[in-house]
Amino acid sequence: MIIIMKSGATDAQIDNVIRWIESLGYKAHPSRGVERTIIGAVGDNRDKSYLKLAESLSGVERTMPILKPYKLASRETKEGRTVITVGNVEIGGPRFVVMAGPCAVESEEQMMESAYIAKKGGADILRGGAFKPRTSPYSFQGMEEDGLKLLAMARERTGLPVVTEVVNPADVELVESYADVMQIGARNVQNFALLKEVGQSKKPVLLKRGMMTTIEELLMSAEYILSAGNQRVILCERGIRTFETATRNTLDLSAVPVLKQMTHLPVIVDPSHAAGNWRYVLPLSRAAMAVGADGLIVEVHPEPDHAVSDGVQSLKPEKFYRLMEDIRLLENTLRRDM
Ligand code: PEP
Ligand code: MN
Repeated sequence: MIIIMKSGATDAQIDNVIRWIESLGYKAHPSRGVERTIIGAVGDNRDKSYLKLAESLSGVERTMPILKPYKLASRETKEGRTVITVGNVEIGGPRFVVMAGPCAVESEEQMMESAYIAKKGGADILRGGAFKPRTSPYSFQGMEEDGLKLLAMARERTGLPVVTEVVNPADVELVESYADVMQIGARNVQNFALLKEVGQSKKPVLLKRGMMTTIEELLMSAEYILSAGNQRVILCERGIRTFETATRNTLDLSAVPVLKQMTHLPVIVDPSHAAGNWRYVLPLSRAAMAVGADGLIVEVHPEPDHAVSDGVQSLKPEKFYRLMEDIRLLENTLRRDM
């Protein structure tokens, strides 16, 4: 149920409604907008009809059932869009945000070089995987904590915040102590234990769509994080599995405007894992901006030929600089009305 407060409702009236919701065993999720405050009462779906009684409390304008199964992620429970601030970077704001870096942290030299390339190109956030979820158990699994330390060093040297993946609920505490944004990868989009764990964190979460998840399932996964208390979730479309084999996955560009319709959360696109080939990264990036994405996460490597993972889809530095030039040029026209 959503409880819509009158515009001008006082803090005391809002607090009173929150206490009343909690006394009935529901969680209250207030969203303070410019115009008015909306309070989501979320909990067990069985008989919520008595929440309608909130209409008799002072300061309440009306109540409304939340029809969507993804309640906190839905636009019904929040006025406006969520903007997530990471250092000086705003994700979901007017600027198109670019996260860039190698698939995996491989060594100090490779990571520092990658960080300077990301910085030189004008990226906002540096990426690099220290825990790698690999299809084969024989493939490189990541540098783990040593990799996280290199990411922290790269942040210190460039000033760029870092995003890195966490694959195991037991590692969340460790990863969040180094990362500015924690990534949940496509393979873990429905790892509910992991989602609940990052839901308790204060760090923003970049949640990638799985190769086999519907848009609604992605939003239900976001709901796990939001309902555990972490409101800072960024969604990422990274391609889904279809009958097409010319690309690694099929970038579902329509997911971007559809998600924008369904949720207040920011949405970014990963053209690298979608395409699986560096050649398609630039055109797909332009397309991502055109359909209204809030940003990109792209793989860049100083020497893709020697990358330990995802070299084929990683941009060489020069190609990355070209991408950034294009992005900044297009931004002035394409993002004007977003
Ligand atoms: C990655 O970002 O390196 C990654 C493994 O991505 P995905 O989870 O989208 O496959
Ligand atoms: Mn990768």
